[in-house]
Amino acid sequence: MKFEDYRITEGIKTSISKLGYKKPTDIQFKAIPPILRGEDVLAIAQTGTGKTAAFAIPILHVLQERKITGRPDGVKCLVMAPTHELALQIDSVFKVLGKHTRITSFCIHGGVDQDPQIEQLNEGVDVLIATPGRMFDLVSQGALQLRRVEILVLDEADHMLDLGFIKDINDLMRHLPRKRQTLFFSATINEKIKNLAYSLVTNAIRIQISPKDPVAKNIEHAVANVEMDDKRFFLEYLIKDHPDKKILVFVRTKVRAERVKKALERVDIPSDTIHSDKLQKDRESTMKAFRSGELKILIATDVSARGIDIPDVEYVVNYDLPETSEHYVHRVGRTGRANKSGQAVSFCSAEEQELLKEIEENLGKPIKRIEISKNDYNSTVNFSEDKTHNWKTLMKEAEEEDIKHKKKKKKKKLKK
Ligand code: AMP
Repeated sequence: MKFEDYRITEGIKTSISKLGYKKPTDIQFKAIPPILRGEDVLAIAQTGTGKTAAFAIPILHVLQERKITGRPDGVKCLVMAPTHELALQIDSVFKVLGKHTRITSFCIHGGVDQDPQIEQLNEGVDVLIATPGRMFDLVSQGALQLRRVEILVLDEADHMLDLGFIKDINDLMRHLPRKRQTLFFSATINEKIKNLAYSLVTNAIRIQISPKDPVAKNIEHAVANVEMDDKRFFLEYLIKDHPDKKILVFVRTKVRAERVKKALERVDIPSDTIHSDKLQKDRESTMKAFRSGELKILIATDVSARGIDIPDVEYVVNYDLPETSEHYVHRVGRTGRANKSGQAVSFCSAEEQELLKEIEENLGKPIKRIEISKNDYNSTVNFSEDKTHNWKTLMKEAEEEDIKHKKKKKKKKLKK
């Protein structure tokens, strides 16, 4: 099946071909027809499968067919996403695919002034993409009406639950018409997600993409045993070994993100970080630089990088192992997007072996091991250009950063 064969508005087909999409991905093949028919959909799809276009294409078509021009009569489709980055990214997919239609999309999220958002809403928006926090603020102020919503999309629902948005989602339902189409997307499934899904959808078409192998087949992933204090040497080696590659490095905490950035700085490797302590405008400019390739190394925490789609990430490095296998799937899913090949490597220290075991159990199969001989291990450590730092200075640096972070947290708490 090709996109030309679909009964969708020509303008959307033009955008699809401009994007270079030749044929629908699995999730698009399965989800587009029922969405066009107006049915509810419950989709369990792994990351990077093309799921945004799987709902954006039929939604744009349905609204374009129905739209009464020149009358701003309220939001018709509401897309809820867990993070700013994901919301902005979904908005950009709607904008690109909807370029030759009359449908307008708009993204609202916190961390920026709300007045321009209210102004835009008053002018009329067809598709609203929102993170839960700012949306509830605007709804409770009466600045956002949701009575005309015909289609509700919940994207990355599992992540919304992780972030504690369940109450917000349930509260929101009171503001939405009962008669609506609901599309529910989640990368993973468990009892809690099932309960949420079944409370929102009616007679949904269920779609599941590769449930047995949550890591896409085009991703080569492996793990290397590296001690905690040596990880930076291995990262330095890997980056220098792949000088032109776009590499996304995952760490466990914001403090560690900054620490890894500093360690790379000392060996003249430019990098940047993304995490929730950074200002929204800085996060956006960092993402822009990474997207364009101007920035090659991005160090991220799980929350900030979930769901984001960056073209051509050739390597994902789990500098720290993630806490759960779901996070593992999401992290490695940042590479190998839409049939491109990708590589992911995890650095696993002795303390993290237990985590690795759990991740493998949940994946249902072992992750390939990279065997490093003692000689190779030592020469990687010695390869480092970071000769000025011995473990004592590093420990001191780490302690200082921890104290700084704790102070900041305390200050924040006091402010509240
Ligand atoms: P998503 O899972 O929505 O984040 O999409 C992952 C990537 O797949 C994005 O970079 C899309 O531009 C790309 N993509 C989506 N649909 C297709 C398609 N039919 N053919 C090729 N690439 C696609």
